[in-house]
Amino acid sequence: MKIRPAMLALGTAALLAGCQNMDSNGFLSSGAEAYQAYSLSDAQVKSLSDEACKQQDSKATIAPASSPYSQRLDKIAAALGDNINGQPVNYKVYVEKDVNAFAMANGCIRVYSGLMDMMNDNEVEAVIGHEMGHVALGHVKRGMQVALGTNAVRAAAASAGGVVGSLSQSQLGDLGEKLVNSQFSQRQEAEADDYSYDLLRKRGISPAGLATSFEKLAKLEQGRQSSMFDDHPASAERAQHIRERMAADGIK
Ligand SMILES: [Zn+2]
Repeated sequence: MKIRPAMLALGTAALLAGCQNMDSNGFLSSGAEAYQAYSLSDAQVKSLSDEACKQQDSKATIAPASSPYSQRLDKIAAALGDNINGQPVNYKVYVEKDVNAFAMANGCIRVYSGLMDMMNDNEVEAVIGHEMGHVALGHVKRGMQVALGTNAVRAAAASAGGVVGSLSQSQLGDLGEKLVNSQFSQRQEAEADDYSYDLLRKRGISPAGLATSFEKLAKLEQGRQSSMFDDHPASAERAQHIRERMAADGIK
């Protein structure tokens, strides 16, 4: 959810959904065939994520367990539960000014101290719930396949055991960067917002943090030079959607 001009929000989901549609129409084009033949298994996605997470950790300054950041995140993690769709999660704080957080398909969840400085616990819960949504809804897996590109995915998919070994170090490094700064489509963002809302409710956490975190982001965005190409869903609109859901659910 890195805060930045969102010019590169490519519709990767739409791209792949297009392939699947061809399939359901009974016309299995070579493109759809390639996608199916060369899609990564969940186990391969997990082992690639393990590697990407390890690489990011090795470059980051990780807050020690005794730091107030880590202790805060421990509390937040306990509130959110210990897994994403059964995949156990692992949390760390990166001591970095960026306002960012990400989750990978192997349960690697990293929260930047810059985000924790700006948000209260309820807001951090909401943001992490959103990132978990991108994993749970398959956005991260799809993004990984697109980021790797057809040739690399083909090589990785063909190598039964050693998916990590089938990629060069620079491909792996590039993958890690793309996972950290992932760009999702507007629809994926909206889906992850709704996932977070539902998760927070299920865990007995107020969804208000979702709305107020977006409102804080909206303020940040206002202060920024916005690009004429920037048609990303404004944070203010996303906050509004959450407020509407809260009203419908009778939550103040
Ligand atoms: Zn997102």
